[in-house]
Amino acid sequence: MNIYFNQNLIINYKSQSQIARVLTEDWVLNNLYCPKCGYERLTHFPNNTPVGDFYCSKCNNQYELKSKEGIKSTIIPDGAYDTMILRITSMNNPNFLFMTYSDYHVNNLYLIPKHFFTPEIIIKRSPLSVNARRAGWIGCNIDCKKIPLQGFIPIIKNSIILETKNVLKTTQKADGLKKDKIESRGWLFDILNYVNKTKSNIFTIYEIYKYEAELSEKYPNNNNIKAKIRQQLQFLRDKGYIKFIDKGVYAHGWLMDVLDCLNDLNVTFTLDEVYAFEDLLAVKHPENNNIKAKIRQQLQFLRDKGIIVFVGNGVYKRIF
Ligand SMILES: [Zn+2]
Repeated sequence: MNIYFNQNLIINYKSQSQIARVLTEDWVLNNLYCPKCGYERLTHFPNNTPVGDFYCSKCNNQYELKSKEGIKSTIIPDGAYDTMILRITSMNNPNFLFMTYSDYHVNNLYLIPKHFFTPEIIIKRSPLSVNARRAGWIGCNIDCKKIPLQGFIPIIKNSIILETKNVLKTTQKADGLKKDKIESRGWLFDILNYVNKTKSNIFTIYEIYKYEAELSEKYPNNNNIKAKIRQQLQFLRDKGYIKFIDKGVYAHGWLMDVLDCLNDLNVTFTLDEVYAFEDLLAVKHPENNNIKAKIRQQLQFLRDKGIIVFVGNGVYKRIF
């Protein structure tokens, strides 16, 4: 894989949108593997097929490519509103490949697996004016801010190609968040978004309970919101996205990952022993360039909270 577009293809094109489509689609065909199963190449659907842009001939996953020049935007314009809602509710929407590019190369490429789509992230646009060729047609935008962070799986990040095996691992983990019913997806992602919003990597169940009123407005038929919150947290815990520390206290993100490393060590351990997990943590956090500093920061936090103590001579002891 390389990150460069084939500029020879566009000599005869004038329209910017056509140029963008030709370059980005060609790039996918010649560079991208299937991010769901690892098969070496994707295949293009015949033009104007409404189902998507590409599919994998091995696992049959379908992909729609959305690309944007310049910086990452949180709004992705998409096709007809009604079609999109119908496809999501009937569970046959494609996976999304979201690419940003500049100067004829890919900056970022994310897979957003199809099960992260809910009707709520689809925003209706105003109907086209009476003068338009397709007057009255209603398109939609995808509001990425409403998709939990865990649904954005980086394949290329800041022009760096991530290792295929690590991408596939992240994809498989994200598959754990699949829910069969649309309403169950809504609940799960609402709670996951609240968890992501918590300021530190440690949170209590009460921080999530404070959204009870908001949730009961959204789900008026549910009479036991707290039980539903607990159920979602349990699910996220089983799928390895949050970690239970103590009664009503959970960790996520970096803190959870460092705690997992400590669990594999003896009760007393040294900083170097934690540093030995550097490669593993780099897989989980491809965006971070200073893993050791992040490890030290988490240990400091755990020490401040009394979850580990420093016994001297570079040796720590865990209290859990
Ligand atoms: Zn595949």
